Amino acid sequence: MNCKIATIPGDGIGPDIVREGCRVLDAVGLKFGHSFSYTPVLAGGAALDATGEPLPQATLDACLASDAVLLGAVGGPKWDTLPGSKRPEKALLGLRAGMKVYANLRPALMFRQLADACPLKSEVVGDGLDILIVRELTGGIYFGDRGRNADNTAAWDTEAYSIPEIERVVKIGFESAMKRKNKLCVVDKANILETSRLWREVTEAMKASYPTVELSYMYVDNAAMQLVRNPRQFDVIVTSNMFGDILSDEASQITGSIGMLASASLGDSGPGLYEPIHGSAPDIAGKDLANPLATILTCAMMLRYSFSMEKESAAIEAAVEKVLDAGWRTGDIAGGAEARSRLGDKLVGTKKMG
Ligand code: ATP
Ligand code: MG
Repeated sequence: MNCKIATIPGDGIGPDIVREGCRVLDAVGLKFGHSFSYTPVLAGGAALDATGEPLPQATLDACLASDAVLLGAVGGPKWDTLPGSKRPEKALLGLRAGMKVYANLRPALMFRQLADACPLKSEVVGDGLDILIVRELTGGIYFGDRGRNADNTAAWDTEAYSIPEIERVVKIGFESAMKRKNKLCVVDKANILETSRLWREVTEAMKASYPTVELSYMYVDNAAMQLVRNPRQFDVIVTSNMFGDILSDEASQITGSIGMLASASLGDSGPGLYEPIHGSAPDIAGKDLANPLATILTCAMMLRYSFSMEKESAAIEAAVEKVLDAGWRTGDIAGGAEARSRLGDKLVGTKKMG
């Protein structure tokens, strides 16, 4: 298979980690007989410096013309004082909206080799955590009507969802569950919110098409609590834009490792947008210290979701396990000072880990 990938190295550690991701894709291509071609494009601070715009039209065009997009990270202190419309982060919102990627998939996976970094007690975590949060990404309160009254003494933000908006993301929830442990939990606030009640009605109408999936509903306040109390009850969670934003950050933190977590944002037919969940890490940029594994695992998600390359994707995940089993660690997953001194030459930077 020939796959055209637009790459957005971006800012900070972005270029380092994207380069390592592409090296891994090339290795997969060699082993399994695929060819991946890359079109590097500008977004974020790098684009502001070169063109004055955080998301040049040429970048969006190149992304839309590709089969998948791999993004490193955007932003950094250099651009922090710019006005809102000129902030590097604008590029992310512009890409999500421009590519119409309405479902954000964020796996919260705890690697058993890194169990020490998990902030939860070992009896809660057992032999690992593996939760997938599917967050609606282009609707809800982030995009609803908002404003203030004339004398500036009140303000409002509106949560609105249409049936098709709910259907398409819940479908991704069901389908993801079928590829995993067949459990789907719809997280909402249906005791209060009308939109949540519509989510439940739509889900109820769809469930007959997924008879193997065990479906449940949970209020978001309870879900936030259950994620730290008993996270192993979850397989796939599907939820609205705002609840998903909050819960996916919570879920990522209970795994303990920001440098290990991947994400995919998917739409209906166009290319998917793939990025590690961490930011541009300006404090370690250009020092060969970044952990490339989140990006490498992001490439595994790309192969699985955009190209249906299940065995290729699994090969990347197995390779990451192998690297961790062999004891290699970047600083972010090395543990405390004592662990670091024990690691010796296994404490490495981006290039060796990649
Ligand atoms: P953003 O606003 O883009 O999320 P941030 O400053 O909130 O940026 P990150 O850029 O994710 O957050 O960085 C948070 C901390 O985690 C930093 O100390 C950074 O060095 C570290 N970090 C993030 N990603 C990695 C990585 N891939 N490898 C090593 N350390 C990382
Ligand atoms: Mg952040």
